[in-house]
Amino acid sequence: MSDSEVTMTRRCPICNGTGELKYESVSDPTGAAEGEWDYLVCKSAPCGALWLCPQPSASELEKAYVGYFTHEAKQRKDGWLIRAFHYVRDGYYASRFGYAIGGSWAQSIMGNLLYLHPGWRADADFGLMYLSDQQEKELLEIGCGNGAALGRLVRLGWVGCGMDTDPQAVAQARLSGLQVECGTLEDLGYDAERFDVVIISHVLEHTGEPENLLREIRRVLKKGGKVVCATPNLLAFGHTLFRESWLNLDPPRHLILHNPNSLTRLLVETGYDISKLWTTCRYANGVWTAYWARKSGCVFEVGREGSVFRRITGRFVQLVEWVAICYWRMRGEDLCVVAQRPIDS
Ligand SMILES: [Zn+2]
Repeated sequence: MSDSEVTMTRRCPICNGTGELKYESVSDPTGAAEGEWDYLVCKSAPCGALWLCPQPSASELEKAYVGYFTHEAKQRKDGWLIRAFHYVRDGYYASRFGYAIGGSWAQSIMGNLLYLHPGWRADADFGLMYLSDQQEKELLEIGCGNGAALGRLVRLGWVGCGMDTDPQAVAQARLSGLQVECGTLEDLGYDAERFDVVIISHVLEHTGEPENLLREIRRVLKKGGKVVCATPNLLAFGHTLFRESWLNLDPPRHLILHNPNSLTRLLVETGYDISKLWTTCRYANGVWTAYWARKSGCVFEVGREGSVFRRITGRFVQLVEWVAICYWRMRGEDLCVVAQRPIDS
């Protein structure tokens, strides 16, 4: 990389403020990509975004996504236990988000009992990207991976399609019968003002040009339509505690990371009105078990959180975080936002 390119990446990609070294010589925790990277933090208040410097090359990124967890099939064998689980979970969804499916009183009681633990509730709510029952409305998922969330929403009545740049993930999603296209949002060229809702879950941090992506999302949204976004939170307790060993740093896949201020700025600059911004304890358990695995010299894999004991302690840590964010509301692991394309735009 030339000196001029390195200099350019020292400016904040969100506000053009000055970057200061935060973490030095961090490597891919999965071992997929070779090399070491630095992370810079924006010193221009109140931005505080964090970004990888220098940005990895295309070939480094290609290596980094080999074996990525979205390549896996989205569902295990549809046995009676899974069907029973879905039956009870539908009761929770009906009670929490108003879905007609699973609306019997018995399902609703069982569903609420199943999700007594706030961590499981956070998982379930995230699994629907916090969307309530809005049948007949058309939805697009950006970076839908193997289609796990999209499939759930379509089953509950949404008219949904998805897109991803990863051919293996797209192939998995299509095997489930979902309508999914491969390419970037710009390349796919959806009609302007087509969608009522766009969901983008843990994708924003993977792009080096979030502004362009959000502008394109705004173009394909109807006036008054909304985007629902979830991304790792730099203010999370996990980041404060584990610093460069924090799971959500995930070099070199996570290029730009946000806090509530930088995400708000990005959305306002790209023409959205923020309706709601909050944080959750979702995957605080995984952040803990990943740290533990790393300190024990193991490679952590998403979805494989280790021994029963490790999982139980993870859920306990998550419970503690849930209590803590009742007070420190912006310190949860996941940063979530609902933003609207203005009706008069
Ligand atoms: Zn900045």
